[in-house]
Amino acid sequence: MLELSAELNEETKIKWDRVRSRLRAEFGEATFNSWLKSLDLVSMRDNKVMMTVPTRFMRDWVVSHYADRVRDLWQEEVPDLQSVDIHVKPAEYAKRETPMSAAESKVAAQVAEAAPGQSGSEDGQVVGSRLDPRFTFDNFVVGKSNELAYAAARRTAESSMVTFNPLFIYGPVGLGKTHLMHSIAHHICERNPDRKVIYLSAEKFMYQFIRALRYKDTMAFKQQFRSVDVLMIDDVQFISGKDSTQEEFFHTFNALVDQNRQIIISGDRSPTDLEGIEERMRSRLGWGLVADIHPTDYELRLGILQSKAEQAGCKEIPQRVLEFLAHRITSNVRELEGALNRVLAYSNLVGRPITLETTQEVLQDLLRANDRRVTIEEIQKRVAEHFNIRLADMYSARRARAVARPRQVAMYLAKQLTSRSLPEIGRKFGGRDHTTVMHAVRKVEELRETDSAFADDLNLLRRMLET
Ligand code: ADP
Ligand code: MG
Repeated sequence: MLELSAELNEETKIKWDRVRSRLRAEFGEATFNSWLKSLDLVSMRDNKVMMTVPTRFMRDWVVSHYADRVRDLWQEEVPDLQSVDIHVKPAEYAKRETPMSAAESKVAAQVAEAAPGQSGSEDGQVVGSRLDPRFTFDNFVVGKSNELAYAAARRTAESSMVTFNPLFIYGPVGLGKTHLMHSIAHHICERNPDRKVIYLSAEKFMYQFIRALRYKDTMAFKQQFRSVDVLMIDDVQFISGKDSTQEEFFHTFNALVDQNRQIIISGDRSPTDLEGIEERMRSRLGWGLVADIHPTDYELRLGILQSKAEQAGCKEIPQRVLEFLAHRITSNVRELEGALNRVLAYSNLVGRPITLETTQEVLQDLLRANDRRVTIEEIQKRVAEHFNIRLADMYSARRARAVARPRQVAMYLAKQLTSRSLPEIGRKFGGRDHTTVMHAVRKVEELRETDSAFADDLNLLRRMLET
C-alpha cells in the first residue's frame, strides 16, 4: 500500500481531497462516515482511478449506492477520465486495520454467497440480505388495498418506541410486502444509523441456522440475532414444517420481545392460517398488529404505472396505454411492472413510439394469462341491459343514436377487457369492419373525457363486468 500511495502526486491528492469533501457535503456526515470515509485512493494512471474499501460488503454497498456520484465528481477533476474502479483492499490490510464497521453489522447485506464447504466463520458475521434501494416509502403508491399495511409500516419505522410487536404484514405474492419491509429498514437506518437492523427471508434464516449447526457455531448465530434492535423476517411461511428452525426462531422471537426490540414479519397468509407452524408460534405472531394487503384495484394499478413510468423518465407513453395495462394486468404489481418494462424496452429497441397496438403485440402472452375471460357476448348482454336496448341491436345495422352509442360502448369494452383483435370484435358485432370498431373506441374515449356522467356509466359497467 505504501508504495502505491507514494505514486500519487500532489496534484492528484488535491483532486482527491476535493472529491472527498464534496462527497461529505452532498451525502452528509453520517453517510460519509459510514460508507465513504474508508474509501482510499490507491492510484491514478492513464486517467484510470483505482480506489479501495476494506471489505467486500462495503464495496458492494458503495458501488450500488454511490459509484455514479463518485465517478461524476472525478470526472469534473479529470476531464479525460477513463474509469473509476473500487476494489476490496487486500485481505491482510483489511484484517489488521479494519474490524467490521458499525455500518456493516447494521443493515447487514449478505456478503456470503454460500460456497459449499466454505467455513462459516467470517461470512457468518453478516447475516442480513441486501436491501433494494428502490424499495422506499417514497416509491410506494398507496391505495385502498394497501393503506393499512402502509400506515402500519410507516408508524413502525417512525416511532422510537415499540408500539406493536410484532408487526405482521400479509398478503398474496407481488403486492408490496417486501417493498414495505425494505422501506422500513431504509427509513430506520437513515434516521438512526446506530440502530442495528437485520432484514432477511425466513428461508435465509433457516439456511444460516443450519449452517451454524453444521459448523458448530450456534452461539455466534444466536448472538447475532439477539443483539439486534430491529429484526425483519420476510416470507415467514417458509419455515413451516422446519421444526428446528421454528424452534430457534421462536426462542429468538421471545428473547427480542422480552427486550422490547422491534420485530417485523411478512407472510403469505394471516398468522392463524399459517399451516405447519406450531400453535404457540402462530398465536405469538398475532400478538401485535396484523395488517393485510389486498389485491390491487384499477385506480391503484394506474397510479403505480404512472409513478413507474415517471421514474423510468418516460414521458411519451400515452395515457391510454397505461389505462389499458391497468385494466388488463390484474394479477399483481410485479407482473404489472414487468409488462411496463417490456413495453418500454421494446419501444426503446425498435425506436418507435408506444401505441396501444404495439403494447398488445408485445404483451400477447401476458395478456392472455391475465384474461379475466369476460366474453364479448357477456359484454354485449350487460351493455344492452344497462342501456335498455335489445341484444339483437348489438348486431343489427340500425344506426339510430339510441342503439349506436351503446353498441360503441360495448365495442370499447370488448377492446379493453378481452384480448380480441379489432377485426375479431367487428365480426362479433354483426360483421362490422375493424375501422368501425376503432372509430367506436376513439369516440368512447373522447366522450369519457368530456362527459362525466358518461364516464361514470362506463366505470360502472366495467366494474360489473370485471367482477
Ligand atoms: P411481495 O413481497 O408482496 O411479493 P414485492 O414487495 O416484491 O411483493 O413487490 C413486487 C414488485 O411490485 C416490486 O417491484 C415492488 O416495488 C412493486 N410494488 C408492489 N406494490 C407497490 C406499490 N404500492 N407501489 C409501488 N410499487 C409497488
Ligand atoms: Mg416478498
